[in-house]
Amino acid sequence: MKPSSAAEILEFDYVVVGAGSAGCVLANRLSANGKHSVLLLEAGPKDTNLWIHVPLGYGRLFKEKTVNWMYQTEPEPELDGRRVFQPRGKVLGGSSSINGLLYVRGQHEDYDRWRQRGNNGWGYDDVLPYFKKAEDHCRGGDEFHGTGGPLPVSDLGHPDALSAAFIAAAAETGLPKNCDFNGASQEGTGFFQTTTRHGRRASAAVAYLRSARGRTNLRIETQALAQRIVFEGRRAQAVEYRQAGALKRARARRKILISGGAFNSPQLLQLSGVGPAELLRRHGIEVVLDVPGVGHDLQDHMQVRIIMRCSRPITLNDIVNNPVRKILTGMQYAALRTGPLTIAAGTSGAFFKTNPRLSTPDIQVHFLPFSTDKMGERLHSFSGFTASVCQLRPESRGSLRIRSADPTAAPEIRINYLSTETDRAANVEGLKILRKILSAPALTPYVVEEVDPGAKVVSDAELLSFCRARGSTIYHPTSTCRMGNDPLAVVDQRLSVRGIEGLRVVDASVMPDLVSGNTNAAVIMIAEKASDMILQDAR
Ligand SMILES: Cc1cc2nc3c(=O)[nH]c(=O)nc-3n(C[C@H](O)[C@H](O)[C@H](O)COP(=O)(O)OP(=O)(O)OC[C@H]3O[C@@H](n4cnc5c(N)ncnc54)[C@H](O)[C@@H]3O)c2cc1C
Repeated sequence: MKPSSAAEILEFDYVVVGAGSAGCVLANRLSANGKHSVLLLEAGPKDTNLWIHVPLGYGRLFKEKTVNWMYQTEPEPELDGRRVFQPRGKVLGGSSSINGLLYVRGQHEDYDRWRQRGNNGWGYDDVLPYFKKAEDHCRGGDEFHGTGGPLPVSDLGHPDALSAAFIAAAAETGLPKNCDFNGASQEGTGFFQTTTRHGRRASAAVAYLRSARGRTNLRIETQALAQRIVFEGRRAQAVEYRQAGALKRARARRKILISGGAFNSPQLLQLSGVGPAELLRRHGIEVVLDVPGVGHDLQDHMQVRIIMRCSRPITLNDIVNNPVRKILTGMQYAALRTGPLTIAAGTSGAFFKTNPRLSTPDIQVHFLPFSTDKMGERLHSFSGFTASVCQLRPESRGSLRIRSADPTAAPEIRINYLSTETDRAANVEGLKILRKILSAPALTPYVVEEVDPGAKVVSDAELLSFCRARGSTIYHPTSTCRMGNDPLAVVDQRLSVRGIEGLRVVDASVMPDLVSGNTNAAVIMIAEKASDMILQDAR
């Protein structure tokens, strides 16, 4: 493909596209030894929005278009034809700057499954050292945790009575108490851990870029949208990007690393001529390599939320709806960095099986001491709390396809939530088990009634209708540039794009399938491991 005439041509050893969870790790690790020059391109701005750094600020960032791509899915056939809102970070730190801060790696078996699918080097024993390398765990190091790494992992700053009552209630239904979902076993109930330090968000930008940005061999460009990869034959040679209206080009002496996330990485590949040939031709894009798997296999975690009316004015709703308590909460945070403003996207939670035949949990519950109709919108005027069901290993598969050759046009996103019987049954059973927890004795003093779906929704068919009407995302899209050896795999075990030279993808899109937890920790692990592989190749 011929490069278009670009005004400025820069040259670096590595060009990284996207300063999100993965891109920040790569930029830090690849520039650390001082031997290589690295350019990090980010479409969004610097992370100066104050709400990024306050944990509960994520509520304000769901619909903040200055730092968020704010995608929508196509009408979802099994969700009553509704479009599902898909926020994604567009700022230094990427989605780790707007996410819910929960640190949950998934199950050991997830990674062993990746290895079983032919991805040597990605079993649990292989990836654990990279989780530990990244980590600075507040409880100190042990078999499962590391200290001294860039990413702080902290215990909850605000363990409130309601969240503790949820744990007690879940234990009353027979779940074991678990003080570390990232330890020996995930099953059970307990408090979540978060990527925070001293009550402030530790995004990948805070954790990995702050210490590296003074390096002379690292250049960070914001408001720089990569529009396409330029190839010479099948060798990726440069990245063309637009910044402040000007078209620029950065050549990579060694490698181009795409870290645009599960939606934007396959979009950029397709725009650059690497993807399903029929799609590219339809949009007038010259085909560099026909790779049908680019954008294939999109997966996401769906969540279905139960909303409860609380009998006591102890929820965040009560604080937000009371000007005096709101001011006091703000003052507490400003002075001490404690209190409700340190709440993440779940305080306590649970992992359980909907079917005793399963060997590991298939449902994660996020408990929150507040309630709202839609995440990111006003909290209810009544005292309320929320507990949601999230099926951990959905079978449903979707796709991501460009809509046009215009790099600024949002891609077509189809998740196809609930498109298999297993997924429908897991959600319905999950809701039934969650209801048992919510009606257990430890929570009884706090409960007036279930508001949504409410007492009228009882049968399996009614619960499924509720899932269709209310189900939404928990923001974990993955696997659109999947790692593997089969014809639809896009990258190999070393994350190199198959059939192309000089190009790797490093982000959530390479996961062979979804991990059974929140995806940020796994993405950071992937980028830590990728950095090691890239530096090995450079020797
Ligand atoms: C609202 C929300 C809540 C979440 N909650 C949690 C949670 O509590 N715990 C958890 O573990 N996970 C959570 N996640 C998921 C987690 O944050 C993501 O899985 C993870 O951050 C993805 O990392 P990534 O590197 O793949 O992509 P991202 O972090 O999204 O980074 C991609 C970056 O690339 C940039 N980019 C894209 N295209 C281009 C281009 N063409 N040119 C230049 N730059 C480009 C983007 O602007 C972005 O900065 C949440 C996500 C969201 C959105």
